[in-house]
Amino acid sequence: MYKESELDSLIICKKCHTLHETISIEHGELATCSECDTILYSCDKQLVTKGLALSIASLSLLFIANFFKLVKIDFLGSEQHITILQTILRLYEKGFWFVGTMSGLLIFVFPFMIVLIHMTFFFLLYTKQAPYLTYRILIMLGHILPWHMSNIFLVSILIALVKLIGYVSIEMGIAFFALLGFVVIDLYIVRIMPMHTLWSNYNNIYANKNSMPKFHNRPLLRCPLCDATNYDKGKNTKCRRCNAGVYTYRHFKNERSLAFLITAIIAYIPANIYPMLITKNFGSETSSTIMGGIMLLWEQGSIPIAGIVFFASIFVPIAKFIIIAYLLVNARYPKEELSNKTKKNMFYLAEIVGPWSMIDVFVVAILASLIHLQSVQIIAGEAATAFALSVFFTLLAAQNFDIGSIEKKRINYE
Ligand SMILES: [Zn+2]
Ligand SMILES: [Zn+2]
Repeated sequence: MYKESELDSLIICKKCHTLHETISIEHGELATCSECDTILYSCDKQLVTKGLALSIASLSLLFIANFFKLVKIDFLGSEQHITILQTILRLYEKGFWFVGTMSGLLIFVFPFMIVLIHMTFFFLLYTKQAPYLTYRILIMLGHILPWHMSNIFLVSILIALVKLIGYVSIEMGIAFFALLGFVVIDLYIVRIMPMHTLWSNYNNIYANKNSMPKFHNRPLLRCPLCDATNYDKGKNTKCRRCNAGVYTYRHFKNERSLAFLITAIIAYIPANIYPMLITKNFGSETSSTIMGGIMLLWEQGSIPIAGIVFFASIFVPIAKFIIIAYLLVNARYPKEELSNKTKKNMFYLAEIVGPWSMIDVFVVAILASLIHLQSVQIIAGEAATAFALSVFFTLLAAQNFDIGSIEKKRINYE
């Protein structure tokens, strides 16, 4: 049994939820889960200066990536180029305000916010100022991190261009390479600075004693927002560190997850029936659905790309529906067909690959923004909105699923 103040010495793996006691590691080392090798925390004596330098580099790259030319094409003698901001604005122009807002947040607003938060956080740690502000922005970081998709957008650019090969001559702009650099640095930051490491640096510097020592004989839970280990106090458990109301009563949470899942499945139907992409070519109009687009790529011989789009638009969404639905039913009517460990791994996988289903929406947005001549135009179809809605609600369904309901040990205290 631990005092609540001692919970900081514990960490629960985000993938398999195995409980670990933290041990002190050497500079440059990473502590990994004993069960599944997921990185738990890191030790870096120069974390603050390194973080500050990396986030300044990220900000410059992100600035170039957003406001300079991403791709330039030569099409029927006229030159076209796009920037990230243009791609988003074009969606609004064509009346796709939901897809426009969602893309705007995922590939423009959130990446900027994350970089600015990192920069402010490391700057405040460096100057040892404003503990409350530091605390608030770390919580905000936890909220935004799962919602930024620069890496997925980068892959979407490549797929969109493969679709155009043979029709136009393509030249990559400086913004593309800046975006590539940004994504690489971002992956590096996520790897060497997990949430737990950021929070322990915060605790070390501000000597935070915000938890009162209390004894509990209750199961331990991981806060999905800040990685803190918490006692499960049943109804309305609040995280002792970031105060997120993440562990609300499980039936209510899973019911919300179910509602989001059903909405996502309903939106997925029109996403497959209506056209995703409409091509206007000298007066004649052809439209293709998601599946139609994949078949076309296949026929043109772009088999790997057809495979990626099939995986992102058909396989991932359906697999995610099935996994979440299975876990929800299983939490309500427990049957021990699969081990808890397998179920947790399934859920983790669904969470990791889920955002990649946005690829097709981004590809359509890029194509629509690139090809808009008087004679030849590519326009996003109604399916783009339905599909974006479906992805959005699937992400919400996964975020609202109570991972604790996989363990049947949870006790209801109220
Ligand atoms: Zn693990
Ligand atoms: Zn928390």
